[in-house]
Amino acid sequence: MAVGVLSLQGSFNEHIAALRRLGVKGVEIRKPEQLQNITALIIPGGESTTMAKLAEFHNLFPVLRDFVKMGKPVWGTCAGLIFLANNAIGQKAGGQELVGGLDCTVNRNFFGSQLQSFETELLVPEIAAKEGGPSTFRGVFIRAPGILEVGPEVQVLAEYSVPSKNSTESTSKSENQMDKPVSEERVIVAVKQGNLLGTAFHPELTADTRWHSYFLKMAGEIVEQSCNSIIKAEYL
Ligand code: GLN
Repeated sequence: MAVGVLSLQGSFNEHIAALRRLGVKGVEIRKPEQLQNITALIIPGGESTTMAKLAEFHNLFPVLRDFVKMGKPVWGTCAGLIFLANNAIGQKAGGQELVGGLDCTVNRNFFGSQLQSFETELLVPEIAAKEGGPSTFRGVFIRAPGILEVGPEVQVLAEYSVPSKNSTESTSKSENQMDKPVSEERVIVAVKQGNLLGTAFHPELTADTRWHSYFLKMAGEIVEQSCNSIIKAEYL
């Protein structure tokens, strides 16, 4: 399977290294024509305004949107998640183009500035179920976005509990999903919707390759399904 990594800016080398650890050669993507023979794509973290300017300069937005619309597997991490979101709010948002496709609203710098970057153990039931290993994953959040709202088709894969400044505040958006103490605000940090995967944190900056492995399996299933439907259409 040819897995492309958008290599305009940000942590593309780290994604390629993580894929290499799984025996997959990541292909650096910088120009529209390089996407032609690619089966699945990773959009890395970095700085989404800069990445968007570079993508615009290289005329990548139309092909990236087509790639998503064709149902090809795409995983966005951090700035890559912002790229995939249908709506982005927060500082400097608005002037920036998005690829879209993921039915969610993200706040670009939900957790604050670079100084508020942090690491934490996230509960990742879906990853543990499909990939094995511990029930938690080390989430590296670097000036990370948060997912504020998701559409009905979106599966929530991980949430983070932000300690609230005001313990009387109750701002849950997912009351039905889990019991929530009033002193915490839950923010969604990983989602899946059909062919699209999004994480607000950076799995490529850890030694744990389970998210990469999960994405490769998801991509494999999508490729298999599309091959089956082509065969059915041609021969049945
Ligand atoms: N919040 C950043 C942005 O708006 C993304 C940070 C990251 O990718 N580490 O681009």
